[in-house]
Amino acid sequence: MNLTRRDFLKLTGAGLLAASASGLVAASAQEAKSAPLIYRGSSRHRYVNLSYDDCYLVKRMQDLEKLLDDYPEFKINLFAVGTALLNNESKDPGIWKRFYDKGHEIGYHSWDHTNFGVMSTEAALADYDKWHDALTQVLGFAPTVRFGRPTYGSLSPSFDAVCRKHNLVNTMWSTGWGGNPTDVVKYTVPKARNGDIILLHIRTDDYHTSVGAYPWMRDNGWGAVTLSRLYDDLLMEQNESTGCDVYSGPSLMRTCIE
Ligand SMILES: [Zn+2]
Repeated sequence: MNLTRRDFLKLTGAGLLAASASGLVAASAQEAKSAPLIYRGSSRHRYVNLSYDDCYLVKRMQDLEKLLDDYPEFKINLFAVGTALLNNESKDPGIWKRFYDKGHEIGYHSWDHTNFGVMSTEAALADYDKWHDALTQVLGFAPTVRFGRPTYGSLSPSFDAVCRKHNLVNTMWSTGWGGNPTDVVKYTVPKARNGDIILLHIRTDDYHTSVGAYPWMRDNGWGAVTLSRLYDDLLMEQNESTGCDVYSGPSLMRTCIE
């Protein structure tokens, strides 16, 4: 069988499975030099993703949990560092599981906020394992993790290697809501665009920004969805007319097969 890449991408699920048996899937996966990378979702949907990084402050996580209880339709992502996973769990046992059970997502953000730009690939891979062990410990099971955000937003080869090995989407952002809460709620929040991935942190200012932003979002018809929803919608949009027609990395291949 001698298929072009385009032919390959147009194979049906059954054909793809057959091709997999002949080794073509492996060959194609190697074409993807980097892990999938996302900055923003589809512009078709009036929703955003709110992602909160670091997650050091258990008090502010508890406050956010209470706020979200008033907005059950809003789902968020937490990009937690490994030390915060363990520290917050010791201060409030079950806190991570509660977020998870309410439909929020937890993503990789390093063990202790080291810059991946100064980490070897070996060190980064070990860092992920340590982080994932901590997440498994606090949740009580080993979850599937789909998204990772590099510390300092640094796109380094070591972080890309982690994403490729563990099928993570390398997740950046299209806007940030950091800063003085009054100003952010007044001037920045209303500029939200469809599909924005919004960078926040678990810290006092950003909690108060959330308190101001959530009711505005609800009143103005904005949704807050998980990165999984936002990313899958984007892939579906890229695929929708001709099947698996746009190549954007291993995650797309997986979506096509399913
Ligand atoms: Zn961070």
